[in-house]
Amino acid sequence: MKVYLVEEECIGCGTCAELCPEVFGLNEEKEKAEVILPEGGPQECIDEAIESCPVSCIHWEQ
Ligand code: SF4
Repeated sequence: MKVYLVEEECIGCGTCAELCPEVFGLNEEKEKAEVILPEGGPQECIDEAIESCPVSCIHWEQ
């Protein structure tokens, strides 16, 4: 499974990068999060990031 985030919806709060720094990073220039490791990341913290994202813009690719 792959994880992706909808950049236009991201408000750059940094929660996902805090919870799961292996998979999510903050692009300081854009002030948006980005997926740095779409595959092979720990599913548990990805799920936590998905649940904790205030704008629900992180998703598993179907
Ligand atoms: S938790 Fe959601 S809104 Fe916050 S930086 Fe990550 S993707 Fe963006």
